[in-house]
Amino acid sequence: MEDAVNGSAAGGSGPIVVAGAGYAGLHVALRLTARLRNRPEIELTLVDRHDYHQAVTELPRVAAGTRAAGAVRIPLQDVLATRVRFARTEIGGFDLPGRRLLTGAGPIGWGRLVLALGSRPNDFAIPGLAQRTLSLYSASDAERVWAAVSTALTAAAAAAGPQQQRRLATVVVGGGGATGVELAGELAEVLPKAARGHGLAPDRPAVQLVEAGPAILAGSSPQLIGKATKILSDLGVGVRTNATIAAATADGLRLTDGRLVAGGVFVWAGGLKAPELVADSQLPTGHNGRVKVDQYLRVLDHPQIYAAGDVASVTDPRTGHVLPPLAQVALEEGETVARNLDTELNGRPLEAFTFHDKGFVVSVGTRRGVADIAGITTGGHLAHLLKDAIEWEYRQSVKHLRGWDSVAR
Ligand SMILES: Cc1cc2nc3c(=O)[nH]c(=O)nc-3n(C[C@H](O)[C@H](O)[C@H](O)COP(=O)(O)OP(=O)(O)OC[C@H]3O[C@@H](n4cnc5c(N)ncnc54)[C@H](O)[C@@H]3O)c2cc1C
Repeated sequence: MEDAVNGSAAGGSGPIVVAGAGYAGLHVALRLTARLRNRPEIELTLVDRHDYHQAVTELPRVAAGTRAAGAVRIPLQDVLATRVRFARTEIGGFDLPGRRLLTGAGPIGWGRLVLALGSRPNDFAIPGLAQRTLSLYSASDAERVWAAVSTALTAAAAAAGPQQQRRLATVVVGGGGATGVELAGELAEVLPKAARGHGLAPDRPAVQLVEAGPAILAGSSPQLIGKATKILSDLGVGVRTNATIAAATADGLRLTDGRLVAGGVFVWAGGLKAPELVADSQLPTGHNGRVKVDQYLRVLDHPQIYAAGDVASVTDPRTGHVLPPLAQVALEEGETVARNLDTELNGRPLEAFTFHDKGFVVSVGTRRGVADIAGITTGGHLAHLLKDAIEWEYRQSVKHLRGWDSVAR
């Protein structure tokens, strides 16, 4: 672990500190490494509670036991050049007037700060939900889901009677967005074999997907929703739409219409919000506690702080809507932030952020998926291959950006 970084916090100069080594923060750090290769006097520090980057988009596979948790933890020392100082520590708050991050390793002063702390599951204050459901936002979360599934299958195998076995071996996923759909599909595909491994009949496990809105994958084209629904149905996933959870109880998820969705394992993938430390800060926040930024991705009234990724509330001027919390968006925002920090240092005008939508791809099960790209909807094996290709390409880009710097130096 690095010592606390006590750089000059005055004026526009001083260290650049990136808070968070997720999709947005790591991209900023890697891009800046290359852009600042001829500016060794500028300190660049990356801060995260983990010494690895997590390929969050691959978590549904870890949660269904089809990928090892270690495989989605990418050690930062493998991707960061020595140019970047890395501080592994918990960020607990901000000293905005003093321009310092308050961390477990002491205060870290910044000249420019990049806020890229991602998001947290949002339980919308539904009673019992936080206590009785698992979430899926880190490799450890995903490991916990798979461990709970294994425990439930063991309990089901020991239970008397098919009804009790079915209840214990049912996984209920709350939230029919991309995360919920990917998790439900992946689990539905692997559960029969996993059940057999636990001495349980393969037709005993079940997966229920519960969505409050009228459709899964809200905001997607009707064609994409139709294809995803069909694949889920083929896999035996019970999809309940217009099903709002009122409370999570010992018996299961109680819906507002009084019905109970019973099961043995409950996972909540129904919404996100900004981390508490951001929501509780004096920074201007909007919907779900996300930080409000200007067109250059600088926090409103705090021009020395940039925000990117899930933590930033960025409105797409073409639609008037806030961009969704997606890795694709985080990477593009990270690109603009890195460019604008470099631009500032060189006294050039800042560049406004524009989102270039590359399309939407969701895996549904271990072999199929759905995709909307350039107005064309596909469903089936091709979409799944596309998802694999995107994840492979991302891992390559992370390595490549580091390699670029090593060669250049
Ligand atoms: C299961 C799942 C599947 C997904 N699949 C897709 C997909 O297929 N495609 C897609 O585009 N998007 C997907 N997303 C969304 C995508 O993962 C997020 O939008 C993306 O991770 C956001 O990047 P970020 O950099 O803002 O945050 P993150 O990647 O979450 O990174 C935040 C970083 O900040 C660190 N951090 C947070 N708080 C602190 C603190 N207090 N102290 C120190 N460090 C801290 C964390 O350790 C983490 O490294 C998925 C999300 C989930 C949960």
